[in-house]
Formats: sequence, C-alpha cells, structure tokens
Amino acid sequence: MSTAKTDTTRGHCFCGAIEYEFSGAPKWVMHCHCESCRRAVSSAVATYVGVNIDQFHYLKGTPSIYESSPGVKRYFCPTCGSPMAYAGSRWPKEVHLFIGTLDNPAKYSPTGHAHIEERVNWFDVHDDLPRFKETAGHGATPVAKGPGKK
Ligand SMILES: [Zn+2]
Ligand SMILES: [Zn+2]
Repeated sequence: MSTAKTDTTRGHCFCGAIEYEFSGAPKWVMHCHCESCRRAVSSAVATYVGVNIDQFHYLKGTPSIYESSPGVKRYFCPTCGSPMAYAGSRWPKEVHLFIGTLDNPAKYSPTGHAHIEERVNWFDVHDDLPRFKETAGHGATPVAKGPGKK
C-alpha cells in the first residue's frame, strides 16, 4: 500500500533558460481567441493551461514581465522571447501557462474556447468543446456547442 504519487508536469521555454513544474492536474485548458492573447503569442489563438498558484513553481530562470493592462502580467523568457505565463488580478490564485511550453503538450486536452466572438474568421475549429463569449469562469454558460459530431 502506498499513497498515490502526485503527478508532476514540467515545461520550459524555447531556449531552456526558464523551466517550471506544477503538481496535479490543471483546473482547465482553454483556447483564448481574444485580441490581447493573440498579440501576446503572435498567433491565431493562445492555448492556456490554468493551474493553482500553489501547485506551481519555477525550477530555473526568472521570466520578464510585460504588464499588458492594469492587473495583467504576461511573463516571457528574456533570452528567447517565448511567452510563458499569464497572471491576472481577476484570478489571483491561478497562473495560466501556455500549452506549447509543456514538455508534453498532448498530456492535457483543451476544455473550451474563450472569447469565441473575437476568433480570426479563417481559424475554423471543428471540435465539440463549449464556446464562451468571454471566459469560462464564474458559472459562464457557453454561447454554443461545438459543431462537431457527437
Ligand atoms: Zn528561453
Ligand atoms: Zn485572451
């Protein structure tokens, strides 16, 4: 008999200067289609892994911070520029990591789409995940279900 070993997930930036880990499962994994996140990652969509701040710590390096709006901190590697994390005063107990920084991004699957109305129109997604007008937190109800087959 032994107690279940807590699962640990690691991630790092492109150059390896920043490494982190978190324990246990993330709270959620969401695609965000808002313009701010799009610009922060310079890509059509930003996919976040939300974890409790007390599950998370850096193993190596210290990211730089860009405060994109009051109360919003976006962390990135000062050497290679990889976006690493998002922290917002709306979610003081969470850190939102970017799924592309995980050692294994296939480990956790997305659970929904946030800010779906700001989606770039050619970025068409055919999945069954719920789509939210804004964020999925605070009991938000999806504006639509995915069009994919059941
Ligand atoms: Zn780096
Ligand atoms: Zn966003």
